[in-house]
Amino acid sequence: QAKVAGKNCFRFYSRAMDQAVERRVHLEHELRGAWDRGELSLAYQPVFRLVDGAMIGAEALLRWKHPELGVVAPSVFIDVAEQSGLIEVLGPQVLRQACADAVRWQESRKGEEPLFLAVNVSPRQLRNGDLPDVVEASLRETGLPADLLHLELTETAVIGDERHASSLLSQLRGMGVKVWLDDFGTGFSGLSHLRRVPVDGVKIDRSFVADVLRDPDDLALTTAIIAMAHSLGILVVAEGVEKEGQYAILRERGCDFAQGYWLGHPVTADEFMAVAC
Ligand code: C2E
Ligand code: MG
Ligand code: MG
Ligand code: MG
Repeated sequence: QAKVAGKNCFRFYSRAMDQAVERRVHLEHELRGAWDRGELSLAYQPVFRLVDGAMIGAEALLRWKHPELGVVAPSVFIDVAEQSGLIEVLGPQVLRQACADAVRWQESRKGEEPLFLAVNVSPRQLRNGDLPDVVEASLRETGLPADLLHLELTETAVIGDERHASSLLSQLRGMGVKVWLDDFGTGFSGLSHLRRVPVDGVKIDRSFVADVLRDPDDLALTTAIIAMAHSLGILVVAEGVEKEGQYAILRERGCDFAQGYWLGHPVTADEFMAVAC
């Protein structure tokens, strides 16, 4: 009896797995031509400076709207792109488009403080090794000043091969590009990494920010990250600020920049132009 049930169980799970695999293969196939079909676009979320509340830059976030599947979440399709290697094609396209958009912002903001552009870079793009060339080409072709480009890397991209990562990051910083560690605090080993990996800033993960008002431990950790980063000469961005109280406490604790729904949602390139320029 148990054997039969086991067999059925196996069949059930294996069918579920087949379906998951099938869905991924389908997504990968559809994603392959998505950029050329115009289904992919960039949204921009503003970043603010806490001391004076000024908008100082924006993060580019990739969006996918498929004609039949509808909107596919970045957490899903970025993973597919990363696993399949497609990110090595998409990443440079995103970077180039974002740099071109950022040049348009600067042109219509003449006289005002320039806005930086933050672009997410996946672990695979970093491991690939040609990132400095790709970045150099995007800057040259679009004319965006290097110091206005901020690359966001996750801790996981850096962990593992720190020597390789460090040398790539040094090369990028040598060009004038800024490097930020994204989702900081979730990787646990963050503190020791900051000594060995050259970065300009850290983005405190929104899971910490979410609870700074309710959980004294999260507030203590956030405060400690800010103090530690500043003592190393590193800037701090808080992500996922959804409430005025979170903004106020981060400002009080000396956090440099903030981003989140309370301050501004990600919007289309045109909408961002209308707000920022
Ligand atoms: P991330 O780089 O940490 O980006 C921040 C994510 O938090 C974005 O999700 C953004 O929409 C969301 N967010 C911003 N403010 C708030 C808030 O106040 N509350 C909450 N709950 N969420 C907020 P999104 O756009 O879904 O992107 C998810 C992740 O996908 C990004 O996390 C990033 O790791 C990745 N991603 C997005 N675009 C790209 C890209 O062009 N290239 C690469 N490699 N990864 C990307
Ligand atoms: Mg990011
Ligand atoms: Mg993040
Ligand atoms: Mg995240």
